[in-house]
This record gives sequence, C-alpha cells and structure tokens, in this order.
Amino acid sequence: MADYYETLEIQKNATPDEVKKAYRKQALKFHPDKNPGDKVAEARFKEISEAYEVLSDEKKRQIYDRHGKAGIDGMAGMGSSQGFSSMDEALRTFMGAFGGGQASDSIFDTLFGGGGGGGGGGSSGRRQGASKRVNITVSFEEAARGVDKELAITNYVTCHACKGKRSASPKGIKRCNRCSGSGQVFEQRGFFSMSMACPECHGEGQTITDPCKECHGAGVAKEKQHVKIHIPGGVDSGMRLKMGGYGDAGQGGGPAGDLYVFIQVEPHKVFERDGDDLLLDLPISFTEAALGSKKDVPSLFNHSCRLSIPEGTQNGKVFRIKSEGMPNVHGHGKGDLLVKIFVETPSKLSAEQIELLKQFSKLESPANLPKRKGFLDKIKDIFSVS
Ligand SMILES: [Zn+2]
Ligand SMILES: [Zn+2]
Repeated sequence: MADYYETLEIQKNATPDEVKKAYRKQALKFHPDKNPGDKVAEARFKEISEAYEVLSDEKKRQIYDRHGKAGIDGMAGMGSSQGFSSMDEALRTFMGAFGGGQASDSIFDTLFGGGGGGGGGGSSGRRQGASKRVNITVSFEEAARGVDKELAITNYVTCHACKGKRSASPKGIKRCNRCSGSGQVFEQRGFFSMSMACPECHGEGQTITDPCKECHGAGVAKEKQHVKIHIPGGVDSGMRLKMGGYGDAGQGGGPAGDLYVFIQVEPHKVFERDGDDLLLDLPISFTEAALGSKKDVPSLFNHSCRLSIPEGTQNGKVFRIKSEGMPNVHGHGKGDLLVKIFVETPSKLSAEQIELLKQFSKLESPANLPKRKGFLDKIKDIFSVS
C-alpha cells in the first residue's frame, strides 16, 4: 500500500483544506456508484478513503507522520488490517467528507452531473430511485416536425397497498431498539468512535414485523406505465431527453429516478444533415450548367423551391437556400438547404449528338474553360510544354 500522501497526490505539508479537496476530487472519480462492477475503482476508492480517514484527523496524522502505518494500526486497535476491509467504511468516510448523510442528494448531483445514473448508495435509508434509459427511433420527417410518442416502461412505483410504508398496518412498524431509530450505531475504536449502519435494522431505524402482502415489505412494486413524451422538432441522433422523475420510485422518502430518452433519427432518402443545415446533391445536365436553367428542388416540408442556376455553373458549386433546413431544436429559427450541383457528362450519345458535339468542340476557345488556363500554367514547369 502506497504512502497516504502519495495516494491522495498531495505534499507532506498539505493543509487540512488541501487534504479534503484532494480526497473529494478522487473520491468523485472512483465512487462505486460511478464505476459499477469495477473492482479496480473499488480498491482505489477504499485506498483513498483510508488515506483520508487518517490524514483528515489531526491526531492520527501526527502518529502516521512519526510512525507510519504501523503506528495507526496499533493506535486504532485494528490489528494488522490491510486497508479498509469494507466498502461501508469507505462510504462512511466519503459521506463525512461531503458533509454527512443529509447531503447525499447533492453528492449524487455532483457524481452524475445533476441526476441520472444508478440509484443512491450510502448509508442513509433515503434512496433515490434508479434512473432508466430507453432508446427511441424517429423518422427524419418526425425529427423535423417534432412528434408525440408514447413509451411503455416498467418502473418500480410506490406500492399502492402500503403507500411505500412497507407494513400492512401501522402496528407492524417497530422502532429499532438497537439504534433507537437513528439507523446508526457508534463503535469505540481506540480513542475515537466510528458510526456505522445499524446491523439490526440495516440503517433504516425501524423493523417491519407485518410486511405488506402486495410488495412483501419492499415498499415498491413493478408496474407497467405509459409515458407520453413530446419530441421537439430539430432533434438529432445522439440527443437525449431527460424526463425528470419518470424513473423508479425512491425509497424511504427519496426522490424518484429520471428517465432518459435517447434519440435515433433514421436517414433520409435524399437529404443529409449537417447540424441544422440540410445537404442535397442535385444532378443537372452539362447544357443546363452551360446555358443556365431553373430547377425545382425538393424541400423537407413538402413544397419545392425554385432554384435559378446561372449560365456557366461549374460542377460542385453549392447554392444556399435560406431557412429551408432543419428547425433548431432550441427554437433558434431554421438552418439552410445547401444544394450541391453535380454536372453529368452525357453518355450513350446518338449519331446526331456526336456530330453536333464534334462541331461544338471545333468552336471551343480557352475562354470557355476558365479552370484550364490556370492548370496549364501550374504544370508548365513540370513538363516544359504547354
Ligand atoms: Zn406494499
Ligand atoms: Zn437499528
């Protein structure tokens, strides 16, 4: 096990504030709720919590500085324990560093950036319900116009029979004698005491002697729910909508989790999307490009736009038609429709067309070919011919 200072990545003379800051930063990164099933993160979380437990306590820190880890083990009466033996100890340290159990909501906000992720951990009986993720696929047109959808999801909801109280009758709820209803017990270790979740009631402060028949004392039950969601016009693949409170019901008075709707938009036959702009490849004939023409261009909202192609339009030219793109999902107007010209070289020519084109080629002059002169100038040095 590394040196506690190295573990927290701080200097030997770090102030208590710096110790706390360093621990908080790492604890948020390696918290088990953020790394479910990750054994490495779990071990790391225990390590940093153990280091913080010692370095945040002035007395223990002094002993550690003088006698190292052996001094701490002797002092705390922990024998030769290697590190924090249980995740519960580490989690309590974590709660302590973030200001006690009451602050658990803000911790999970910090952990998950304002909601989401799994349900709450910690030692408090008040737990947020789990958040859910659903995927939904909408057509390109639905994404453009916006659409209302109904989702069927199975959530844990507060049990209707016991209203989440878990007991079939009020008499079935007994205050825990061991912890006097606080859910916490204190254990003396050397000359400091540690609080831990009451082993009798598992931190809930009460025991249920007459569990609800419907939910078998869980307080929540699975239920299929139909959730209406409005998908705003302009959504794109990869966007997600948060439906606050549509996840699993919380326990012990905790808030419900959230529902995250991940959106996938089907591709369109002709339009491609670039942010709020739409891209369209428009094939035209070489005579239309040379002589100029008017074209009806399809637009997303079932009306066509007239595009004037001036004479001498080159292949690859892009015309911008204002406000015929996707609506902005935040309501900031609409993108544009970008029409890219593709000039087709005629193929399968008739004898008459060949004859006319041969006549035409005899009449071609350098002025007809604006790109050619520049190109010939560039390669002159390479071939020394023109
Ligand atoms: Zn119930
Ligand atoms: Zn208890």
